[in-house]
Amino acid sequence: MLKLSCSSISSSSTANVLCQCGVVLEMKISWTKSNPRRRFLCCKISKARGGCGYFRWYDDEILAHARRVIWGLLKRGKTYELERN
Ligand SMILES: [Zn+2]
Repeated sequence: MLKLSCSSISSSSTANVLCQCGVVLEMKISWTKSNPRRRFLCCKISKARGGCGYFRWYDDEILAHARRVIWGLLKRGKTYELERN
């Protein structure tokens, strides 16, 4: 009856993305006016210290999607239906 598959949804999906230095990317939130509350991933090492200068906006769609799925789970509580693609 219970058909939860939360295990496939992980909030740490970005936790093991490495930049060119081989360092786990750091996620930060932008607070600029043009990109308020937008997340981005960047290299932990500053360029001055030899970092690769990696920068990438974190895909909000993935987040929105995950949130939707999680909300669906919370609302339903019991069943989790696969979304149609
Ligand atoms: Zn780097």
